[in-house]
Amino acid sequence: MMNLMPATARLSCFAAWVSKFHVTDNRKELTMNHTKLGRRTFLRSSLAAAAAVPLGAIPLTLKAAEKLEESDPSAAALGYKHDTADVDAGQYPRHSADQMCKNCQLYQHVDGDWGNCGIFPAKQVNVKGWCNAWVKKAG
Ligand code: SF4
Repeated sequence: MMNLMPATARLSCFAAWVSKFHVTDNRKELTMNHTKLGRRTFLRSSLAAAAAVPLGAIPLTLKAAEKLEESDPSAAALGYKHDTADVDAGQYPRHSADQMCKNCQLYQHVDGDWGNCGIFPAKQVNVKGWCNAWVKKAG
């Protein structure tokens, strides 16, 4: 049978379902609507509910709609520049020329010279850009 509920709605339902559980002080039993559940029952139910959300239904690389402007108040607050060479070294002494969005942990490349950033979720940032939230990419 085909599941017609969108993935986001299914995730919301799963989150609402999980929020009904409460870990008691001794952390050995869980309660749901005042009914005690064994740990195994809880884990089995959680796995079954998680399996109901097909991973293929969740897009992993949605491209943000617009390019981030340097004049955007949230960008300006973090000193974002499209080109890391334009960063004011006096204002941001921890910045170095080799730091740019493409080697930041929060950057997700989509295509071309622009990609997504976890700090500015609705906007695209430049691969050569930089802001004060830069974190070295792991690996
Ligand atoms: S957080 Fe990282 S990816 Fe986002 S704008 Fe700042 S340097 Fe670029």
